[in-house]
Amino acid sequence: MSSVQPGALWVVATPIGHRDDLSARAIATLRAVAVIAAEDTRHSRPLLLHHGIDTPLIALHEHNERDALDAIVRRLQAGDAVALISDAGTPLISDPGFRLVRAARAAGIRCIPLPGACAAIAALSVAGLPSDRFVFEGFLPPKAAARRSRLQELAGEARTVIFYESSHRVAESLADMRDIFGAGREAVLARELTKLFETVLGEPLAELAARVAADPDQQRGECVILLAGRGEQVDAKLAEGQRIFAILREELAPAKAAKLAAAISGAPRKALYGEGNGERGTGNG
Ligand code: SAM
Repeated sequence: MSSVQPGALWVVATPIGHRDDLSARAIATLRAVAVIAAEDTRHSRPLLLHHGIDTPLIALHEHNERDALDAIVRRLQAGDAVALISDAGTPLISDPGFRLVRAARAAGIRCIPLPGACAAIAALSVAGLPSDRFVFEGFLPPKAAARRSRLQELAGEARTVIFYESSHRVAESLADMRDIFGAGREAVLARELTKLFETVLGEPLAELAARVAADPDQQRGECVILLAGRGEQVDAKLAEGQRIFAILREELAPAKAAKLAAAISGAPRKALYGEGNGERGTGNG
């Protein structure tokens, strides 16, 4: 039995699929607080019971957050420890809780993060796209015109961009991205992370959009789309050029292979096969 600091708001991440991705500290805290504010109490109860947590639940969702937060802040001020969870992952990340945390902080209440799963970060950790700088765009607008105009605003973005998307719109969104960012821009679809049908597909947008459009299985479940930033397009072209060059070089003179690989991939010829240099830029000897 552990104790928690009284009068503090614990913001606790829960799993995004695999129910054992709830940390030991999260379990101990959720058992010890006076009450858990949950986005959907019916949704969270099975997970909590699986971990032996029978703390009382109250609802805090998008539609009642403004009204519910006053009562929660009063409980915190009276000394109760309260935990905030959402249906999956980290609260506040495309989920309710921002207003509560803001109100709690404004009232001088300590807010304590209890980190854990977040679909955006889990997807980024396996996408193989640059992760030193990235932006999180959350959900794109559901209507086509608004979605395209949001994407157009991102045309110059050099950092990796992370989107949450509904499986019902993933094919449309990938097609829009292909049209706006170009067929060769690298993208990754990370689906059903930590679940049975976990899939991570990384391809240039033309191939990814076509593959998802043709396969209804890729339009199921929960998904994150990651898009390489504009600057990375050059690297993607270079990687493709290097791949083609390596194949052609088996049959052709290097200069000829580099010329063809550059024409096919759009990568600069000199980056594939430098003048007076037999191996430069091939990356694989
Ligand atoms: N707070 C959550 C988090 O920390 O990731 C996000 C909640 S948001 C309402 C739900 C969206 O997150 C889904 O539509 C999907 O885009 C993404 N998501 C959640 N779980 C996922 C999973 N297991 N695999 C891929 N994407 C997931």
